[in-house]
Amino acid sequence: MNVHDSERLSGSLESAGYIRALDGAEADVVIINTCAVRDNAAGKLYGTLGHLASVKRRKDGMQIAVGGCLAQMDKQAVLDKAPWVDVVFGTHNMGSLPGLLERARHNGDAELEILESLEVFPSTLPTKRDSAHSGWVSISVGCNNTCTFCIVPSLRGKEKDRRPGDILNEIRLLVEDGAIEVTLLGQNVNSYGVEFGDRQAFSKLLRAAGDIEGLERVRFTSPHPAAFTDDVIDAMAETANVMPQLHMPLQSGSDRILKAMRRSYRSEKFLGILDRVRARIPNAAISTDIIVGFPGETEEDFQETLRVVEQARFASAFTFQYSIREGTPAATMAEQIPKAIVQERYERLAALQDRISREENEKLVGSSVEVLVTAAEGRKQSETHRLSGRAEDSRLVHFQVPEGSAVPRPGDVVSVEITQAASFHLVADSIDGAPLAIRRTRAGDAWDRAEAASCAVPEPSTSKGVSLGLPTLRVATIPIYDVSDGQR
Ligand code: SF4
Repeated sequence: MNVHDSERLSGSLESAGYIRALDGAEADVVIINTCAVRDNAAGKLYGTLGHLASVKRRKDGMQIAVGGCLAQMDKQAVLDKAPWVDVVFGTHNMGSLPGLLERARHNGDAELEILESLEVFPSTLPTKRDSAHSGWVSISVGCNNTCTFCIVPSLRGKEKDRRPGDILNEIRLLVEDGAIEVTLLGQNVNSYGVEFGDRQAFSKLLRAAGDIEGLERVRFTSPHPAAFTDDVIDAMAETANVMPQLHMPLQSGSDRILKAMRRSYRSEKFLGILDRVRARIPNAAISTDIIVGFPGETEEDFQETLRVVEQARFASAFTFQYSIREGTPAATMAEQIPKAIVQERYERLAALQDRISREENEKLVGSSVEVLVTAAEGRKQSETHRLSGRAEDSRLVHFQVPEGSAVPRPGDVVSVEITQAASFHLVADSIDGAPLAIRRTRAGDAWDRAEAASCAVPEPSTSKGVSLGLPTLRVATIPIYDVSDGQR
């Protein structure tokens, strides 16, 4: 969600005449888009602001803006602790950023603007996409649940659903712009429709996205198990461009802990959904999020998590060590678990999931997969002479380009045979040295156009270079693995 918010911030700023600072250059404006859900967000923010203070001291006219969840939560505290910040804005008024920067410049004083509720659905803001082939589309924001570890409801408010026509129009525009993959976003993506009283709105939306010509891959994140209904499974199975992949947070395998988390499903229901998904979509790669060391978690509770993980056979899992988020009910619960115990459980869980991921990946050796090529990233790729991309089930695939073969562009699709498997990726090395089977796509053409445009000499204008801080923008694909380093 935050990555997509950063794309919208970039879009709003570009529409207002700002341009992205070149790599390594000192930006005139630095925007830090914070995420309070992440561990130690405040520590990272104030550390970064401390560093920026010295840059700002020697760079006349530089502006710093802080937005996102942490700004929404800390409001005035950001300006109190870092008075050199020029603008603080919240999650509900991202579109005001250019105006706030202008006002701060004009008035020579800091601007603080936090709205308590959403005025404009954020997807109506211009977006500067980081990837030509893939795009995020918000279908809802906010959340009506009250998970005790989560700060989202108090920062993003109640769920607001976007009109289906607006969503489909945005998808069509993305497709016209060259995207062939779209990820539908919502804090609780499958409860979409709750605001306008249609319980099957999400499955209808998936089917409608299936009719959009040129859209090859549809994904969504993240569904809530309690609201996961069979009409969604049917729509996934029966809509050709909905990918065989599901990321659904488990959080804990212990029913007692799920109750304490105020997660209204139980492990049996969760596993039942996986069975039904796999019955209809046998090749589905299912991934999850799990929190270890929630307050009051006993060894027996943790054993329950291990049991469910073993049974669920996730393709991968984002595993988190519980840590206190101020302002959440869990922060004040008794029986916070000592760090050493949390760490030890986390390591046991990670080892189990690594084994399962490797075993599940090994089953794919010898099979053919269609890989949507992503932009080259990371040191590893230049060392191994492989390119990377995502299979239909979103697994990360590193593939070799045989000597003499044409080289695919980011956004093209290659058909390869898997030759090796590891826990976090698959490898497809050439077996017979034959040229790669490449399907050139509109997304590859769009990448060509974007490259040509970026080679053009930038206009020497009054445009300000802008750098977006925390998080850095990355290729917009579903985060089963981190593309650049293969880590969860
Ligand atoms: S479902 Fe729970 S974890 Fe997810 S956003 Fe809502 S409150 Fe947070």
